[in-house]
Order: sequence, then structure tokens, then C-alpha cells
Amino acid sequence: MVKLPWTLELVRVGAVPPVLVRHAGERLEHLLERPVVLPITAVDGGPALDLVRRQYLATRFLDLLSQPKIPTGVKRIGVTNLDLFLPVFTHLYGYAQLGGNAGVVSTFRLCPEDGVMPDLLLERTVKEILHELGHTLGLVHCPASWCAMHPSRWPEEIDLKDAAFCPPCTRALEGGG
Ligand SMILES: [Zn+2]
Ligand SMILES: [Zn+2]
Repeated sequence: MVKLPWTLELVRVGAVPPVLVRHAGERLEHLLERPVVLPITAVDGGPALDLVRRQYLATRFLDLLSQPKIPTGVKRIGVTNLDLFLPVFTHLYGYAQLGGNAGVVSTFRLCPEDGVMPDLLLERTVKEILHELGHTLGLVHCPASWCAMHPSRWPEEIDLKDAAFCPPCTRALEGGG
């Protein structure tokens, strides 16, 4: 992949296993060919809890992730085990500002099948981090079913995607800076 002037930071939100985030960081360093920063401290997702829905408001997570202030050139993606929602959606795998500097990915609904398969959960998490990172880099949804920027409604759809951006999305990244 091309080198753009940004750094990915993966921040734990809630009680997501540190080992999952560390492995995702290692995978992404390899895929993106750039260092991934893993801050030691986790962010408390509590303030984003909606008591009626018993889920966590995705937009509020971006506010929480914006402290401490995100340095220029840093894309800060939160990884959480908490269940995300937006008022118009029952749930979300992730959320990010288009062209912004923050996003969040939730593992809560990534492995609904019986028996947790750590490798599959890691793979799905990595793809969803790439997806939200793509949004912060200005990418919109892509019609190619195997592209990381294709939207997913079910975990099985995430499995159809590559942990990569398709050629048009990659070109958009190169052109858009
Ligand atoms: Zn999306
Ligand atoms: Zn694409």
C-alpha cells in the first residue's frame, strides 16, 4: 500500500481483550506497512451507555476517543467489546467520521456463532478496523463485495471481504491523500 502521512492508533474501549487488539495491531502493521500505535490505557465507554437501549451510542464514542486531543496525522480507532448503536440502526459493527480522525469498531456482534473462534474474530476485527480507517481517510462504501470498504450486515459478509482495499479504493486513497 502507498505511504500517506498518517499513523493508525488503536485504543481499547471497555474490557476488550488486550491480546486481541495487540494481534490486530500486528496484522494491520503488516497490511498497511506502517507502525500501529497501541496506547497502554483503555478508554471508559460508560458515558456512552443508553439506559433505555442498553447499548452504547457510537457518536458519543468518537467524543470519548477524541480525549486526549488527537494529534494531526493520527487516525485513532477505538476497539470495543461494547454493543454500538445509532438511533437509526439496531446495531453497528463500527462507526467513523468520513475524512475525520476518529472511529470505533465493536467486536460485540462479530462472533455470534457457537464457540468463539479467536482467529475468525481477529480476522473480522481487522477487516472492520480497515473499513472504519478507510472512512477516516475519506473512502465511501464500495460496491465490490471483496473490498474492505463494502458494507457488511452479517459477520458472514465480512468473511467474503479481503483485508485490503480494492484497486479503485486504493487509487482514491492515493489521489485523495
Ligand atoms: Zn462503512
Ligand atoms: Zn473498494
